[in-house]
Amino acid sequence: MDHITVIGIHGLPLIQKGDNIASLICKNQIFQNGDILCIASTIYSKSKGYTKSLKSISPSDRAERLARLNGEDPRFVQVILDASADIIMEHPFILSELQFGHIGVRAGVDQSNIEDGMVIFLPPDPMKAADGLRSEIKKISGKNVGVIITDTCGRSFRRGQTGNAIGWSGMKAIRDFRGDVDLFGHVLKITEEAVVDEIAGFANFVMGESNNGVPAAIFRNCPVWTGHDNLYFTKDEDITRKLLKKELDHECA
Ligand code: GDP
Ligand code: MN
Ligand code: MN
Repeated sequence: MDHITVIGIHGLPLIQKGDNIASLICKNQIFQNGDILCIASTIYSKSKGYTKSLKSISPSDRAERLARLNGEDPRFVQVILDASADIIMEHPFILSELQFGHIGVRAGVDQSNIEDGMVIFLPPDPMKAADGLRSEIKKISGKNVGVIITDTCGRSFRRGQTGNAIGWSGMKAIRDFRGDVDLFGHVLKITEEAVVDEIAGFANFVMGESNNGVPAAIFRNCPVWTGHDNLYFTKDEDITRKLLKKELDHECA
């Protein structure tokens, strides 16, 4: 019988630069082999010092222009531009492509759950971050645990944000159903299930967005799946990206 348990991790401190998240969580929880640990990117970034003080930032001309366009603080916009490998849309909000493949609103830069005047940006290599956490947990607890680093993200077509996986280790991102047959014997041609995002979505629900203080969750007894890690479309496959980019190029011309 499928009976998945989800445990929200309470009782962690406000994370500071230099804190060892793996060791804090291992002191708080006893892991079992096969557990999947979801961690909010916000605490990973705080622990590694992926934060900036707005005071320290001098905005470029482009940051000043986009800030005026969107009614934002130019220094905040500069952090977004610095975190972006490419800009896909400028208005009504900045949509950024990050070096590691993720496309997100304001490059995933946050001003919440950190002191006034500070901002948090996403880890530059979340896959490596997830690998690192997974091996530290193995070292401390002796258990084989999968790790997903999550962020709350907006989406197209629907209102409301959901949790997405931005880094993962110990599992495949996508469960590939192509070639499988359905209940009526039809061969599935398209279906690839983004399991890491589904788990991240539920983890995000358990964590909450504001002052819950639950920056991590454990999933126990998940079924095992096989598939692949090509979660991000290539530039050529991504129809939405192409259309938005064309629009932006047109505006700039
Ligand atoms: P994001 O989705 O990664 O941007 O993170 P959020 O800011 O939405 O926070 C997710 C959850 O983690 C919420 O329950 C926050 O209250 C909690 N949280 C954020 N920072 C900390 C922290 O430093 N310590 C603890 N204990 N909880 C935190
Ligand atoms: Mn965030
Ligand atoms: Mn969140």
